[in-house]
Amino acid sequence: MATYILCHRHEPAECRFAFAAWRGFDSPLRHGRALASCGRNGQAADARHTIFWTVEAADASAALGYLPAYLTSRTEVVHVAEVPIP
Ligand SMILES: [Zn+2]
Repeated sequence: MATYILCHRHEPAECRFAFAAWRGFDSPLRHGRALASCGRNGQAADARHTIFWTVEAADASAALGYLPAYLTSRTEVVHVAEVPIP
């Protein structure tokens, strides 16, 4: 297993669809919590929304499979590991 950051972006007008897409989708991320700019107070109304998940998966494809299809096309998958910061 490896660690990946899933970085999904959508336009403000797509927000409700990005959340509705989870209905009926089986994923270990469901009913969990994520860091997101969606609904953040003080955010510019036209600012793109971003949601981040940190997941453990066998590979990048498996990590992306945790998200519904509506989200995957606009999601960057980054393989990460802890490193010491000098
Ligand atoms: Zn949003």
